[in-house]
Amino acid sequence: MIDIQEIRKDFPILSREVYGRPLVYLDNGATTQKPRCVIDAMTDEYLNVNANVHRGVHYLSQQATELHEAARETVRRFVNARSTAEIIFTRGTTESINLVASSFGQAFLHDGDEVILTQMEHHSNIVPWQLLQARTRIIIKVCPITDEGRLDLDALEALFSPRTRLLSCTFVSNVLGTVNPVADIIRVAHAHEVPVLLDAAQAAPHLPIDVQALDCDFLAFSGHKVYGPTGVGVLYGKETLLEQMPPYMGGGEMIGKVSFEHTTFNSLPYKFEAGTPDYVATTGLARALDYVSAIGFTAVMEHEKALTSYARERLSEIPGMRFFGPSDDSVVSFLVGEIHHLDLGTLLDRLGIAVRTGHHCAEPLMHRLGIEGTVRASFALYNTREEVDALVSAIDRVRQMF
Ligand code: PLP
Repeated sequence: MIDIQEIRKDFPILSREVYGRPLVYLDNGATTQKPRCVIDAMTDEYLNVNANVHRGVHYLSQQATELHEAARETVRRFVNARSTAEIIFTRGTTESINLVASSFGQAFLHDGDEVILTQMEHHSNIVPWQLLQARTRIIIKVCPITDEGRLDLDALEALFSPRTRLLSCTFVSNVLGTVNPVADIIRVAHAHEVPVLLDAAQAAPHLPIDVQALDCDFLAFSGHKVYGPTGVGVLYGKETLLEQMPPYMGGGEMIGKVSFEHTTFNSLPYKFEAGTPDYVATTGLARALDYVSAIGFTAVMEHEKALTSYARERLSEIPGMRFFGPSDDSVVSFLVGEIHHLDLGTLLDRLGIAVRTGHHCAEPLMHRLGIEGTVRASFALYNTREEVDALVSAIDRVRQMF
């Protein structure tokens, strides 16, 4: 059991008010708040260590480099990768997926080859493949979802063909809260000799990740959704695949030798890290991962699952409540009667409650559901039952206005 009131003290922003009311922050799927230790670690680095990494012979540069590379080791441990060569720092999930689409695409995808996506993907796992499609005539196949909001696994199996080169799917849906059976999906894909990319943006904050146990080929997540800073994310990739992929961007740090005639590239992971990295953010990310790991995912999952079930139960008391998806994880998406999602979100905001409304960057999923958008409450380890109660009574108040 975790002491939520103690945990809340670690997050300074949670004690602020909005419109004269206590903040009830239920937009964690968009970004999480940061514990003081993350803010302090980053402030300390700017105050006392700041220097560009990898290039300097001087003391500060070496110290900054040590912090940056220690952060890579922390990430390696967090996802249980074999080696830090497999941990590439990016700006976030979006950049990680774009990197794979571009670089894996260049190495392995030819006209007529196929990539499998699913109907519940975020735009950042759709558009990069369409951009690739504009250069190479790949075929995008889409696994449908059931009415319950789960992947149709029989339909998925039928999508594989001898031309399938990659399956890229989300671990946890940011709209439906579905936790996909990724271990089974990976097994099926590998039986067809197809590698798998997992978009773990909504998994990393809520579930333990073990890339070796899962045997996924790529995995992407964002620092800011897992209590870390913005501007930093991770791409895990199997070394054997990364070795065969060309660099994504060119510039400093990713090279071996440069001349106007010929350039050679650095070893992994630096081959994929052109330019100055956000080395202060990587320190913050490492601190965030240590923070959540110290609490432990067993406790985090227990708390968040209980809170999500409680939210479903309490919200279902509201007349006209319609849920979208099974809410396996910390996400509850809904509509209430004929109230427009934007109106509901705006009025909840006035009552101090931060939720997200709209299509949640998943327009194809909205088309499948036959709606324009939902209201989404998404929980983190610091949310409480009292906050769920506040959400329910605020919705009731809004409902009476209509
Ligand atoms: N994938 C999923 C499932 C997401 O929920 C998000 C963000 O909401 C992303 C990808 C994109 O993450 P970022 O904007 O941090 O790159």
